[in-house]
Amino acid sequence: MMGVNHAITGAAAWIALTGAVPYLTTGALPLDPIGVLAGAAVCAGAALLPDADHHSATIAHSVPVLGRLVTRAIGEVSGGHRHGAHSLLAVGVAALLAWALTLLTVPLDGFGPVAIGAGVGTAALVCFGLKARDFVDRWSTAWLLGIAMGLFIVVVVPEQIEWFPVAVALGYAVHLAGDALTTGGLPGPWWPWVPRPPAAFAEVPVLNRVWMRNGYVALPLLGDTGSRRERAFGALLTIYVSVASGYQLLLGIGIDPLSIV
Ligand SMILES: [Zn+2]
Repeated sequence: MMGVNHAITGAAAWIALTGAVPYLTTGALPLDPIGVLAGAAVCAGAALLPDADHHSATIAHSVPVLGRLVTRAIGEVSGGHRHGAHSLLAVGVAALLAWALTLLTVPLDGFGPVAIGAGVGTAALVCFGLKARDFVDRWSTAWLLGIAMGLFIVVVVPEQIEWFPVAVALGYAVHLAGDALTTGGLPGPWWPWVPRPPAAFAEVPVLNRVWMRNGYVALPLLGDTGSRRERAFGALLTIYVSVASGYQLLLGIGIDPLSIV
């Protein structure tokens, strides 16, 4: 799946889970509008993280030189593109790292502890999410907006930071789900154990695209990465995210969206 569609699926999943929009969201983890909108940006960025195993992924260009070095290193450690970084184990590691970031605080006179770790994490992920969606064309602008959001989260609404690890884990998992819907598939849930199907299985049409010869699994409803189907799916989700976040925005500034329809 393309970076832009990963980002939009991350935002959509977060809004569906945390938003309060009649008929459009589940509200399974209800948050106030700031948490819904800020979390959607973080979740969109987190949904790009698994492709940090590829040196030409969107986020490889986030920081000159360093971005490429880091993505190359992650690719090597995790065994290459769509290997370890695309496994359930990696979802757990990402969630754990995000949680560890929230523990990183510095005391500030007259203000109490400032969640600097989650602030930096928020800044980076919001920056990635904005850039993937091409809301901004320059990385410097994306970073500025990301940093503004990071500061806003830790200084203005520090009680909101609790959801940070959840948004990272959800975004990461949603990326894997997105890739599983394309023909490339994933190394399966048990990586590093990637069992291959029995030889006879390879002859069975349809099934041999669900459990592939190399052991990868997929439910390739969206076809190849970047297919028309995938683009249409991304466009639908973009409408969903726009409508639902517009609703949240109105709620956030104290207007009942239903009163103006
Ligand atoms: Zn991927």
